[in-house]
Amino acid sequence: MPLIDTHLHFDAPEFAADAAQRWALARAAGVVHAIVPAVMAESFDHAIDVAEQFGMDVALGLHPLYLSSHKAEHLHVLAHYLAQGKAVAVGECGLDFYVPGLDPQQQEALLLAQLKLARRFDLPVILHVRRAQDRVLKCLRQVRVRGGLAHAFNGSAQQAQAFIDLGFCLGFGGAMTYQGSQRIRRLAADLPLSALVLETDGPDMAPEWGQGLPNGPENLPRIASVLAELRGLPLAELAEATDQNVRRVIPALRPIV
Ligand SMILES: [Zn+2]
Repeated sequence: MPLIDTHLHFDAPEFAADAAQRWALARAAGVVHAIVPAVMAESFDHAIDVAEQFGMDVALGLHPLYLSSHKAEHLHVLAHYLAQGKAVAVGECGLDFYVPGLDPQQQEALLLAQLKLARRFDLPVILHVRRAQDRVLKCLRQVRVRGGLAHAFNGSAQQAQAFIDLGFCLGFGGAMTYQGSQRIRRLAADLPLSALVLETDGPDMAPEWGQGLPNGPENLPRIASVLAELRGLPLAELAEATDQNVRRVIPALRPIV
């Protein structure tokens, strides 16, 4: 039952004390790999080190929530790292129209610049999309990339299909574990299996059984069980299908040893 955590901020300070123990727990429960998406230029090196230490892959991007930390030259830093083949994807990047005080125009300019880099280096993109599905789709139609992952998907069925048509898989994680998240649970049950990937988004997006605690990769097997149950599939079948999906959209992912 090899599971891949497609969105794990393992470079976050919340993991400084117990990353090794958490990863050992996750490994023992069937998690074989993870993608660590860096969120700002200052943390690229640390994210690369952490990913290297645990045999994970890294994505590099400028996250919209840290808009005030990003400087114009950070796009050059990002381009430099991508040119050296340091990342399997561009991200985490995207648009967040939920958190107040983040200028939408500035966010969109930053996203478009990163989509152009993804196209230049023929890399997939890992997207953060909050209350901004249609605007992100507009950007993706404006600057075509090879596809990628829309993480913690929380849009409509129609928006989901639009991402799928543009070569994206949709990430499902902690939010899906809450009985009250009916829309997300319905999407997780109904969307084509070929469009789904699993994620924790650790240390964020704690699942229902870990509310108030830092989320981590050790929660992925139970998250996978929830999705398997929603779809009426054996867990092993779900694991294999979602692994294939990750590898299709992120072909540079390292092989599991
Ligand atoms: Zn994230």
